[in-house]
Amino acid sequence: MKTIQEMKFIQKLKKLDNKQRLRYSLMIIGILALAPPVGFITQLFGSGTLCGNLCPRMAIGTAFTRELFTRTAGVALLFIWLGITFFFGRWMCSHVCPAGSLTEFGSKLLPGRFKIDYCKIVDAPLFRYGFLGAYILLPVVGVASICCAYCSFSVIPETFGALFVPRLANMLTTGSRIVSILLFVFLLGIFARDGRGHCHLVCPVGALDSIMNAIGAKLPFTYRERIHLDDCSGCGYCATSCPAWAIQVDKSAEKIAKIDQRKCYQCRLCESKCPKNVIYYGRPSRQKDHRNEKFVEQVLISNTIQD
Ligand code: SF4
Ligand code: SF4
Repeated sequence: MKTIQEMKFIQKLKKLDNKQRLRYSLMIIGILALAPPVGFITQLFGSGTLCGNLCPRMAIGTAFTRELFTRTAGVALLFIWLGITFFFGRWMCSHVCPAGSLTEFGSKLLPGRFKIDYCKIVDAPLFRYGFLGAYILLPVVGVASICCAYCSFSVIPETFGALFVPRLANMLTTGSRIVSILLFVFLLGIFARDGRGHCHLVCPVGALDSIMNAIGAKLPFTYRERIHLDDCSGCGYCATSCPAWAIQVDKSAEKIAKIDQRKCYQCRLCESKCPKNVIYYGRPSRQKDHRNEKFVEQVLISNTIQD
């Protein structure tokens, strides 16, 4: 017999809009491509997970060491990842990365009252850039690397994979792996508001990705999550729905709502929450010519019910 929580989960799935359906579909493909037990892309590089030659975290962790030259696949993946972000926004973090996707899906099974809203408590960009600095510099100054001992990229897919592959379960019983499971899978994962506390705070790939997102967003030809400010009413629904607290609403300013591209990871939740339908994914010059009254009416009703 289905539990109440499971039934709520299925109801939520049925209510998803097309953007979220696309996102969840790509997240599942990302898991199948890069995480065990399937991992059809990682298998090509001799590992069931992103751990190994393909690891973009290692490419960052060895940035100023000779080891970098042995990590061609990881460096290539990192460049592809950041290149996509520069031109099109954070598709890799929000739609593909299996570490973020697995804990995000896991967190949906947990009632909201048990979750911690890390982005409300901590200045996420400041924390993650500090972590990134330490992550790169510690091996350079001769202190041990924190790359593999505590790694969200490997431990989250491995924990999930251990449900299907007994060999992985044995690997997870060593000291640092147990700490990593508690930290990344539970505390910063399933128990985070959007299941992505580790993405916001301690992922070096996510930190570089957010810098690239903010730099690229300043250019007129790049695609990002943006707001048509002429039509924004300043109601603030977008700000409260954003799991990364990336939107500030200032009613006294000319530009009422503003997206902080260092924080935004392009989950696209805010688009469907805006009653004026003025949040969109695209170039800055794109005109909002597709507003339709039926959509606006539906969002207003949905927001009123949630209030
Ligand atoms: S929900 Fe829409 S109208 Fe309301 S503040 Fe955000 S962008 Fe503006
Ligand atoms: S601003 Fe919108 S797309 Fe970006 S993280 Fe917040 S809700 Fe998601």
